[in-house]
Amino acid sequence: MAALKIKQIKVGPLGVFAYIVACSETKKGIIIDPGGEANQLVELIRSERFEITYILNTHGHADHVMANQKLKNLLPNKQHVAVGMHSEDKRLFIDQQMPKRSANQSKRLESPVVDRLLHHGDVLNVGRMRINVIHTPGHTPGSVCFHTEKNLFTGDTLFVGAVGRTDIPGGSLDTLLASLQNRIMPLPPDTIIWPGHDYGDRPATTLGREMRENPYITDFILS
Ligand SMILES: [Zn+2]
Ligand SMILES: [Zn+2]
Repeated sequence: MAALKIKQIKVGPLGVFAYIVACSETKKGIIIDPGGEANQLVELIRSERFEITYILNTHGHADHVMANQKLKNLLPNKQHVAVGMHSEDKRLFIDQQMPKRSANQSKRLESPVVDRLLHHGDVLNVGRMRINVIHTPGHTPGSVCFHTEKNLFTGDTLFVGAVGRTDIPGGSLDTLLASLQNRIMPLPPDTIIWPGHDYGDRPATTLGREMRENPYITDFILS
């Protein structure tokens, strides 16, 4: 079992949790959801001497992908860094790049670079880490969780005490609850849940605690 270093950093105007996850032995690592603060993330990577091989997105919403391009350009080994996102959210990501008609919405994100389309069951090997891609649609069609060594990075699928919004285009509460029930709840209860936003009473939780206390699980799934 690989020993990991996990850093949780709040970035961007919407306070997204970005994560740096690295293998302690090889220092090879990934960045999950760089939604901003690319310079700060790079500084941290430099000071820890991490070698990043993937920038991974839990889904294609702008607040989670905003700094993909800038961050990649700032990394010293950028030609060996792949940006990964689920195939069903690549569309969403591209749509966000389209020019908006109204003048006050004319700000465009930098062009997307998705080098690696992710699918359910994919395994990414990074140093001694094995990162499993779990497709958990509901918040968006292409939402995924990343699972490695009892850690689950859930993006906007599962928060501390809540779940992500499903009232936005592409969202479905029924689909999200099915993802929770079939793909997250079977994991061991001591799995650490690292969410995509700081919406709860603590920055991270365990699956066991959420099974006992998260109303979306206790009231909608287990009742
Ligand atoms: Zn989202
Ligand atoms: Zn979000």
